[in-house]
Amino acid sequence: MNVLESEHQSFMPMCKKCFFLFIVFIQLSCKTEVKRIGIQPLGKVNAIYLDSIQKVLSDFYSREVVILPAKAIPPSTFINVKSPRYRADSLIYNLRKTKPDSIDIILGVLASDISITKKDDSGKPKMPSSKYADWGIMGLGFCPGKSSIVSTFRLGQNNKPLFMERMKKISAHEVGHNFGVMHCKSEFCVMRDAAESIQTVDKVNLALCDDCKRKIN
Ligand SMILES: [Zn+2]
Ligand SMILES: [Zn+2]
Repeated sequence: MNVLESEHQSFMPMCKKCFFLFIVFIQLSCKTEVKRIGIQPLGKVNAIYLDSIQKVLSDFYSREVVILPAKAIPPSTFINVKSPRYRADSLIYNLRKTKPDSIDIILGVLASDISITKKDDSGKPKMPSSKYADWGIMGLGFCPGKSSIVSTFRLGQNNKPLFMERMKKISAHEVGHNFGVMHCKSEFCVMRDAAESIQTVDKVNLALCDDCKRKIN
């Protein structure tokens, strides 16, 4: 449940008022443009999982949600530092670049493990690097942006209802980031930061708090 910083990071110097208007413009344009969300299976993904993500995204965001034909996981995103994984940041860049024009937001879904290099609050790689340089995660999304990714690898396979619940929460969370919603402080909101613990995911409701709902609607 990590979030990459906004795609709009380098601004020309501008006054505070212009900056504020610019942010409002970006947020409004992001909201009005999203008509269709695409779910992109990467490699072999259980059809029941895809149907369930389709339903949850449609319920959450009131947009048309389509399941795209499966594609191979881009080989260029593969890494083998601690174990064989795919880089989540490379995957969301790739999904953004290759998404069909008819899709406004794309959520990649895969069964393989994904990772990032975890950053600290100042944006520097978090230490110790042996732990955080290749940090396994469950999902990642641009905030705001057009692509995100969810992996089912870390969701636990022994308890199917719990697995499905986690997958739905993380999918809704990452797409929420694409809509521009940052992490939420509300204890039970699905946009709460997992903070390196699956227990956080289990604790939140499969729902947006009123504040986060307002940001989307
Ligand atoms: Zn997040
Ligand atoms: Zn919230």
